[in-house]
Amino acid sequence: MVIAIDGPAGSGKSTIAEMLAKQLTLDNGGRFVYINSGNLYRALTLACVQHEVDIQDEKAVASLARSADIEYQNGAVYLNGADVSAQLRGDNIDRAVSKVSANIPARHVINALIRKIAANNNAVVEGRDMTTVVFPDAEARFYLDASAESRARRRFEQGVSKLGIEEIQKSIEERDSMDKNKPEGSLKIADNVIYIDSSHLTIKQVYEKLEKIIRLKG
Ligand code: C5P
Repeated sequence: MVIAIDGPAGSGKSTIAEMLAKQLTLDNGGRFVYINSGNLYRALTLACVQHEVDIQDEKAVASLARSADIEYQNGAVYLNGADVSAQLRGDNIDRAVSKVSANIPARHVINALIRKIAANNNAVVEGRDMTTVVFPDAEARFYLDASAESRARRRFEQGVSKLGIEEIQKSIEERDSMDKNKPEGSLKIADNVIYIDSSHLTIKQVYEKLEKIIRLKG
């Protein structure tokens, strides 16, 4: 079974997807892998920083996507053999990742990697185009939304950004706009997805809504 969740930055999809994968693994005695596709794009962005690749240079980014060794194991991301999970959430990566992920050949490399991880597994996958491009036939498909204000507040409260709340909101809105206007894999509300606005809900409330729907789907 594949459960696909899309939504903008800070909508809570990573937290929810990870909780679901853990709980479903416990309940079913079978493994549900959790795949955070944004982290794969973040790892590619980190590779650009490390190799001093100009992110405006589409050929160079595509070529790096093909040559970089990005792996995903138990929720951790490895770049060329090193666990880089702790380096993926910095403001420098936030600023560059939407540009890097707009690169179409790079998207094809990452999509193939995601499908490979999910093959022969139950999976909870989250990102921007999981319900539309990568797993359009997933058994359960959700779009998790929230206002830019509440998403900025959540990110501020996580304490990982050095920016103030207003700057975070501006950066989120810029990323939203780029993510919604990509030539391929853009963020959109797919037909027949279950839409949930989490602006005024706690994580627990959102989790319970999704879990109930997934149980109904068996
Ligand atoms: O989910 P997260 O906010 O960490 O994703 C970081 C960035 O990666 C997004 O802003 C988006 O540009 C890109 N992304 C994407 N497609 C996905 C997941 C993430 O383009 N499926």
